[in-house]
Amino acid sequence: MGVPFLDLKAQYAQIKAEVQASVAAVFDEQAFVLGKYVEGFEKDCQQYLGVKHAIGVSNGSDALLLALMAAGVKPGDEVIVPAFTFFATAGAVARLNAVPVFCDVEADTFNIDLESAARKITPRTRAIIPVDLYGQCAAMEAVMDLAREHNLCVLEDAAQAFGATRQGKQAGTFAHFGCYSFYPTKNLGGAGDGGMVCSNDDELADRIRLLRVHGERPRYHNKLVGICGRLDALQAVVLAVKLKRLDAWNKRRAEIAAAYNKRFAASGKIKSPPVAKGNTHIYHQYTIRVANRDQLQARLGEKGIGCGIYYPVPLHLQECFKAVGGKPGDLPVSEQLCRESLSLPIFAEMTEAQVKEVADAVLAAVG
Ligand SMILES: *Cc1c(COP(=O)(O)O)cnc(C)c1O
Repeated sequence: MGVPFLDLKAQYAQIKAEVQASVAAVFDEQAFVLGKYVEGFEKDCQQYLGVKHAIGVSNGSDALLLALMAAGVKPGDEVIVPAFTFFATAGAVARLNAVPVFCDVEADTFNIDLESAARKITPRTRAIIPVDLYGQCAAMEAVMDLAREHNLCVLEDAAQAFGATRQGKQAGTFAHFGCYSFYPTKNLGGAGDGGMVCSNDDELADRIRLLRVHGERPRYHNKLVGICGRLDALQAVVLAVKLKRLDAWNKRRAEIAAAYNKRFAASGKIKSPPVAKGNTHIYHQYTIRVANRDQLQARLGEKGIGCGIYYPVPLHLQECFKAVGGKPGDLPVSEQLCRESLSLPIFAEMTEAQVKEVADAVLAAVG
């Protein structure tokens, strides 16, 4: 039969009428940028996340860029970033002519390795960006302790973890800034690009609001050099419709993950993704580790089962970071995960039959 990696059409079918009515309202008013719909969605997020300020921005990459700008990161400053994450986490640092300094991750959770991070701290280190990779929080309280000790600003990259919790607290609310992406394939995804920065600090939040509109306040009077980093009203209304259903969708993802875990537990060849103590996982990705990853991917491809490799190249070995990156062997866990990890189909609308088909195919392929 085959199973797609992700089926956004199945999700849209459930919310089509409501989305279309919301989008029509925005068109009727012809008020497309920021405004009351964006403010309404920001309030929804503040409430959902239990955070003082939620600021809608253009995308997740700009959320990181704006937070680094608001933190006052300057050219030549060092920012610690895990090597095993999406490019944007480090790209935002480099965009400011600051230096991404790569550290390793933990082999089980895929999240930042605090010992590796601590070894990278120098007098030039200004900030650190832990990532809640695949949908579960990094060890945020330990990150905050380390940051306090060295007076670092912390940006929690929660682009993949909207709705995940740690010790009952929402992902993205532990640090000076939380950065989210509403890219369509994320668990909370819009109809195009979108993002959010949240913060509990009034002054930092105000600086984000200012920087997202060219540092302009009042109109045509620029206090700071910012960017064009606004969220569209169309995105806000679509996201507001989806936010109401997010917990139910995330719950269903966790059920699918549990079903996979159960099937794979008996096989000695597949490492299922563990959930760290105190965490709830929203499974933006369900990512296994296998020794013969490329062969498994090819076998699944033959059966029409979609899967993805997040990520094939660790950031310290990316061509664009030649000057600041490193050499093979520097960050062994990140390098190994790039060789061994494979993400399987997971989305709330997956049927039992589809889950079974994927698990059967994986087990048959690894033998
Ligand atoms: C998706 C993602 C981003 C960037 O988000 P965009 O909205 O695509 O700019 C940043 N960090 C991580 C970890 C992501 O997964």
